[in-house]
Amino acid sequence: MDLSALLRNARAIAAHTQKPLIPMVKADAYGLGAVAVAHALERLEPLAYGVSSLYEAEELRAAGIQRPILLFTPSLPAGASAWQPDDLARSIAARVTPTFGDAAQIVAWATATGNAPWHLAIDTGMHRAGVNHDAAGAVLAAAAAHPPEGVFTHFHSAELDDGSMEQQEARFRAVLATLPRRPRYVHAENSAGAVRRSPSEWDVVRPGVFLYGVGSWRGSGASEREVAAWHTDSTQRSGLTPAPVAALRARLLEIRSVAPGEGVSYDATWRAGRPSRVATVACGYADGLRRHLGNRAHAIVRERRVPIVGVVTMDMAMLDVTDVAAEVGDVATFLGRSETDTLTVEDVAEAGGISPYELLTGLRQRLPRLYKGVV
Ligand SMILES: *Cc1c(COP(=O)(O)O)cnc(C)c1O
Repeated sequence: MDLSALLRNARAIAAHTQKPLIPMVKADAYGLGAVAVAHALERLEPLAYGVSSLYEAEELRAAGIQRPILLFTPSLPAGASAWQPDDLARSIAARVTPTFGDAAQIVAWATATGNAPWHLAIDTGMHRAGVNHDAAGAVLAAAAAHPPEGVFTHFHSAELDDGSMEQQEARFRAVLATLPRRPRYVHAENSAGAVRRSPSEWDVVRPGVFLYGVGSWRGSGASEREVAAWHTDSTQRSGLTPAPVAALRARLLEIRSVAPGEGVSYDATWRAGRPSRVATVACGYADGLRRHLGNRAHAIVRERRVPIVGVVTMDMAMLDVTDVAAEVGDVATFLGRSETDTLTVEDVAEAGGISPYELLTGLRQRLPRLYKGVV
């Protein structure tokens, strides 16, 4: 994992939008390690970090991160669960900036904390979290009595040129106009949205996946829709292409001969069509190399792309190295750069039929994480 590339990507998106960042470090910084990522991003002096669970906020606090931490998942109302410690108490203890779209929660928070910073969540069409844009009147009294530090919305299809982002922006502006006072921080754009807005209309942007090296949204679920290509093009046109950050590598541990007709791995889904050399690496789906990548994706060995053959098993995967002078101890690159080639997150995700987000967040704790670049 290349922390210098991470910093370059963060600087690039900040320069493009001309706004400070709330880097999203949720889901362990998309699988790359939230503590290391947040420490590296400190030199950019981001406004805050964005997380999705109290545990993530507590982890950052335990690691010494002092900056505000925004929690983007709704909190459980006080007393709602007998078995879970109170979200309110934990948020206060971790000095979290929560996000609310519910009047009772706003009042409870303001009462308990003397209106410590919180952000108002407006649902303009994602229909996931926050108060609905056309029912925002329900929180206006609470927000007037206890003014939020920020207000935000979230785009559902910023990677598509389908007019939905513009529609959500219009709904957001309409709600903003009804607030008695403009909060200090108004924000909306995720990575795809930020790439499209130079400068951003709002006060701060919330990039996630772009920081981690993904600047096109091929294979992110919208890939079937023809318009998805539009955004990839627009990213390239804007010159805003992130540097690869993540790499996944393993060494060849064994190389065996496999006779024609013999199968490899569970269910023998791959059979040698010629006398073959098959290498084994200790990286499997329990590390995040998805089972489905077998017979679909490649690794780079000695600057050649070699196919992953058979299904990926829990702890090991096999490569057809028949055409490469490979030796035990050689490095296989499943993701990231070699000397002359790169397997991008988008390439590998597409091969596995998953989104770039799932590929990254699927990288598991068992993998030793090596960080290079500035710290
Ligand atoms: C995940 C998330 C983001 C960042 O999304 P990317 O597509 O990774 O840039 C921004 N805002 C909210 C509320 C999110 O949940």
